[in-house]
Amino acid sequence: MPATVVVGTQWGDEGKGKFTDLLARDMDMVVRYQGGHNAGHTLVVEGRTFKLQLVPSGVLSPHVTPIIGNGVVVDPLVLIAEMDQLAAGGIDCGRLRVSGNAHLILPYHQALDVVTERHLGRNKLGTTKRGIGPAYADKAARVGLRVQDLLDPKIFREKLGVVLHEKNPLLAKVYNRLPFDPEAMAQQYLEECGPRLAPHIADTVGLIHDALDTGGNVLLEGAQATFLDLDHGTYPFVTSSNPVAGGACVGAGIGPRHIDRVIGVTKAYVTRVGSGPFPCELTDEIGDHLVDVGHEYGTNTKRRRRCGWLDTVMLRHAVRVNSLSDLAITKLDVLDDLDPIRVCVAYDIDGERHHSLPYHQSDIHRAVPVYEDLPGWRTDLTGVSDRSELPRQADDYLRFIEEQAGVPASLVGVGPGRDQFLTYRPAP
Ligand code: GDP
Repeated sequence: MPATVVVGTQWGDEGKGKFTDLLARDMDMVVRYQGGHNAGHTLVVEGRTFKLQLVPSGVLSPHVTPIIGNGVVVDPLVLIAEMDQLAAGGIDCGRLRVSGNAHLILPYHQALDVVTERHLGRNKLGTTKRGIGPAYADKAARVGLRVQDLLDPKIFREKLGVVLHEKNPLLAKVYNRLPFDPEAMAQQYLEECGPRLAPHIADTVGLIHDALDTGGNVLLEGAQATFLDLDHGTYPFVTSSNPVAGGACVGAGIGPRHIDRVIGVTKAYVTRVGSGPFPCELTDEIGDHLVDVGHEYGTNTKRRRRCGWLDTVMLRHAVRVNSLSDLAITKLDVLDDLDPIRVCVAYDIDGERHHSLPYHQSDIHRAVPVYEDLPGWRTDLTGVSDRSELPRQADDYLRFIEEQAGVPASLVGVGPGRDQFLTYRPAP
């Protein structure tokens, strides 16, 4: 069976978790393919809220095998804590599998994340300071430790010794921090994490292909989003991995021909956490309204998100770089009280109109959004469960997004609850 990818089309927090959870009902396997414990999905199930950082959303569906793919960076202590938390909430994590090739986040990664952000001062990237960027940097520099190394004390100690030989002087001499003791660290990780994670560590590439070969449905779950992509985002204010659909191939170990549906999760407006350009940002009372009504605070970091009107210049770019087949639009209900509702359809940059995203970052910083105003619906949408119940203005708004994006919207979210959505069009 072909695989489906779910990817965010903006700067993250689009509500991917809810739709991944919804789609997982028909899946046999849900795979995370990049990122680390900065994903922060919030799922509301039967009134209970689960905050997942690392474990794929599919863990809540008992028939799903949740997989942490080779493209993810894993803090093993966080993973264990999350499994414990889920178990305490009655969720069984026994089926969870973690790629032996995934790289480990270790304490020096986090220490370096903190000091390098501080060092950048006003140019800081706004990272979550969890060591994710430094772990990916070590992976690229080929000095990373992998999940499989937790099962081999000799290799673990050897690699850790080599890497700390470089990191310790960096931490101590450049950043004035205490060095790490390699033996104490090795002992802690090999004793605490190795045996605990051993039953979950697997050849996930083999498992994913076995599922595909035997007709299983596989969902590949992206964390962060298109404009936080290392290659395609607003660099350097990006994440250190590739959330775009192509990243799913690398981070899970499948070729593009296995994927036949790519769903772009799009919030009905736009939010962004941390630094970086944001042409449609609203710093007025409408921006405050979106923060309040949409509860736009980071799941993990609690940081207030910057808010703005929907930007279809970005959306069209996301359609291209991900080859999106359809959209899942979230949080339509957050716009219930606004009238008119503005949609950015182009940018004006130095007197010139641009309908597609300029490649030069400075142009994005200077872009002035060109808006079209659509009438609001001024109706509570949170109880709507069928397209036919949508007020005409809400239906027009969705069709306008489809026209601008050039792809259909299949699902629409009208509230935070698991069942607060409607099928707008059948799956392509
Ligand atoms: P993710 O990282 O993309 O999964 O996004 P988050 O989990 O950080 O943010 C999603 C938040 O929005 C959660 O609190 C969801 O319960 C909530 N949410 C998801 N879809 C909707 C929706 O359609 N309407 C409203 N009001 N909230 C939603």
